[in-house]
Amino acid sequence: MKAWKRIGLMGGTFDPIHYGHLVAAEGARHSFALDKVIFVPAGRPPHKSARQITDPYHRFIMTELAVASNPYFETSTIEVERPGYSYTIDTVRQVRELYPHTEIYFITGADAVLEILSWKDVDELLEMCWFIAATRPGYPLGNLRSRLKGKIKESQMERIIPMEVPALAISSTDIRARVREGRPIKYLLPEPVEAYILNRGLYK
Ligand code: ATP
Ligand code: MG
Repeated sequence: MKAWKRIGLMGGTFDPIHYGHLVAAEGARHSFALDKVIFVPAGRPPHKSARQITDPYHRFIMTELAVASNPYFETSTIEVERPGYSYTIDTVRQVRELYPHTEIYFITGADAVLEILSWKDVDELLEMCWFIAATRPGYPLGNLRSRLKGKIKESQMERIIPMEVPALAISSTDIRARVREGRPIKYLLPEPVEAYILNRGLYK
């Protein structure tokens, strides 16, 4: 087993993965001296059951294509292979078992971290890993403390670390809409991912 001191987990639906995800992950890797960032596409995201999610197979391949050029980035099928809803706590528990002596940093965007209270077993989660909250246009991080105050303990608050990244107003929702409407997605996501979407006819 590799002796990693600190690993990052970048969770998401990645439907599709885009530069917003990659910039957040690379920023976290550098700022927190992470040995690796593992991208974990969700199998069945509990928060997104309202819309039809693209087959995990495609989302996983797009994630692979997106991270291939970064030696620090890896992907994991841990969530797409686990039956049922994909809860972060189950993933962190599995990673903790694999790497008992490694600090785990879960990387999220500002919008996701503000929803953390609704996550399964949030108390245990905040005991097991750090949360890095990347800035994201439209979701101010400045009031993070006041938003969470009284709802989580002060010691838990210290587990959530804001991180400034270059603001990219890119979202998977917008990319899907662009493909549907025939508008460009070039320069919003890595070229191999763009090619995969167009070749497979995704999001039409
Ligand atoms: P959707 O529009 O379908 O929700 P998304 O663009 O929000 O897609 P997700 O897969 O939901 O992408 O996001 C995975 C993680 O990446 C979340 O923690 C989210 O906050 C973060 N993230 C997504 N886009 C950005 C961005 N542009 N800047 C910073 N963080 C981001
Ligand atoms: Mg999202």
